[in-house]
Amino acid sequence: MKMKNQKKNNVIGLSAMLLLVLIAITFIACSNDHVDDEEQTAELHAAFAEFDENNVTVLLNGNSVTIESNGMPNHSSPYWSNTTTRTAVDPMGNTLVTAAAAVNHPLFVEPTVTTFEHMAPGNIDDFNGSYSLTVSANPTKASSSTATGLGPIGIAVSGAMIYNDQEGPNVPLKDALGSLDYTAAHTGPQSYHYHLETKAWSEDDDKLIGIMADGFFLYGRKCHSTGTYPTDLDASFGHTSLTQYGSHEEYHYHIQNETYLNQFYILFAGDYQGTPSSIQ
Ligand SMILES: [Zn+2]
Ligand SMILES: [Zn+2]
Repeated sequence: MKMKNQKKNNVIGLSAMLLLVLIAITFIACSNDHVDDEEQTAELHAAFAEFDENNVTVLLNGNSVTIESNGMPNHSSPYWSNTTTRTAVDPMGNTLVTAAAAVNHPLFVEPTVTTFEHMAPGNIDDFNGSYSLTVSANPTKASSSTATGLGPIGIAVSGAMIYNDQEGPNVPLKDALGSLDYTAAHTGPQSYHYHLETKAWSEDDDKLIGIMADGFFLYGRKCHSTGTYPTDLDASFGHTSLTQYGSHEEYHYHIQNETYLNQFYILFAGDYQGTPSSIQ
């Protein structure tokens, strides 16, 4: 009986020792993790809190940030699916039909500054895909600037894409103005995107518009640092000053406070002052 107990005690002792070894290994592994954490100097910029969390996911990985979006805006538009069939003629002369839905999307609103007749083909919810942009968590200005291209050049806080002041290859934006909705956006054939001041959430103010492909943020026409229009902007309408999202000065862009065709404000014509990544 005594021997048996002793054996049992030995087994318990051995188990306890194994457990200690396991704890030690885990501790060492955790310590290594901790070293990795310390190497990670970047912090997620407070401005990312403004991005709609239903449409946009922001991931910090070491010194880079990945912004993923489903491309949908978080606000109303006549470009959400609706019960009206509309047709549009593309530059080749083809008639493109956007079919009527059985019911209006909850975020659908009647067109005001555009008409069904002038709207571009495709509805917001026809787009079924995603966008991803990876930039430095602490972007810096490059030694030379880079022109923007066609397609997405930034991701707005709403979730939808930011485009420049061109509608297509050799198609100036003014040729497409009639199709823009109240917040200067339209579809097709690509996903819903903004070209001009995004009145759905910013009009003549200092609100955050989105992040550009070089990792710098784009703000409304006014700057938080002075409460009015900045006067020290560079060729890309950027400057270094305080914003509402940090305690130190940093480079950022503004919507240019110069009217386009006497009534609009271009979101971002470029160039990028940082190093752009592609939005895929
Ligand atoms: Zn466009
Ligand atoms: Zn500013």
